[in-house]
Amino acid sequence: RAKNEGRHRYTFFETAMEQAVSVAADLEQALRQAIESGAFTLHYQPEIDLASGLVTGVEALIRWVRPQGELVYPGHFLPLAEETGLIVPMTVWSLREACRQGAAWVREGIPIRMAVNLSGMLFRYHDVQQMVLDAITESGLDPGFLELELTETALIENPEKAGRQLVALQQMGVSVAIDDFGTGYASLVYLTTLPIHRLKIDAVFVREIDSSSSSQAIIKAIIALGNNLNIPVIAEGIEREDQLYWLKAQGCHQAQGFLFSRPVPPDQFRHLVRSGALSVSDGPTPSAERP
Ligand code: C2E
Ligand code: MG
Ligand code: MG
Ligand code: MG
Repeated sequence: RAKNEGRHRYTFFETAMEQAVSVAADLEQALRQAIESGAFTLHYQPEIDLASGLVTGVEALIRWVRPQGELVYPGHFLPLAEETGLIVPMTVWSLREACRQGAAWVREGIPIRMAVNLSGMLFRYHDVQQMVLDAITESGLDPGFLELELTETALIENPEKAGRQLVALQQMGVSVAIDDFGTGYASLVYLTTLPIHRLKIDAVFVREIDSSSSSQAIIKAIIALGNNLNIPVIAEGIEREDQLYWLKAQGCHQAQGFLFSRPVPPDQFRHLVRSGALSVSDGPTPSAERP
């Protein structure tokens, strides 16, 4: 009897596993189709300079548009895109689209920096430098308006390859931000050897400003580091006035979060600017912005 039960359970488990595998295969198939048909959209979230209150840039954030129009957030498909290598064509799309939109905004009199997230995986598989160059050339975007957001993990996985490409891109005027700063495992040496133009304090620290003295200490240390290395520091995930107040008091340079605006479709961002809800600085260049 025991044997029968065991066998029964095994069959059940096997079925559940087959289902899981088929769900993953379906998702991969759907993602592949989405990439072929360009079923993505970028939303843009403003980055605000705290001294002037002006918008100096936007971060482009990808969403997958399902057939009925629902949006799927990157947390649900990026891991699969990275595992399957689909991250490469996906990034080709997001870089092209962000540069196209950035160039259009510059032409419309909205001269803002465009920040694009790059997965660390890319450096393993692909010539990121060429990919960025193609997007810039095709769109006509001034490279000084483009910023690439990388995590520390991206840099430690491929330090030489990533470093070489980042230096070449910097020579063209492209800037580089370290995303989720403070949560990775990289040594800080790369901050002096690589061209880094901005540190983005991870939202986990911002969320805990009112409850954790160690999060406060980490934020203060990052701001001091930025000041000493001449690298502006931006805090992300700001949702409340009290968080903003505290960050300003610490001398944090820039800010981003739902408090200012959620990531919004391009038309809505344009409307926020045109209506005066957000004001844009005139044509920041990465070097002019240094603290
Ligand atoms: P990230 O680059 O650290 O982006 C910040 C995330 O926090 C975004 O989530 C944004 O919508 C969200 N966020 C912004 N302000 C607030 C706030 O005040 N409160 C809260 N709770 N959340 C806030 P999203 O859009 O879901 O993106 C998640 C991650 O996916 C991004 O983290 C980035 O690592 C990645 N990602 C997004 N777009 C792309 C892309 O085009 N390519 C690649 N490779 N990765 C992307
Ligand atoms: Mg980012
Ligand atoms: Mg981040
Ligand atoms: Mg992140």
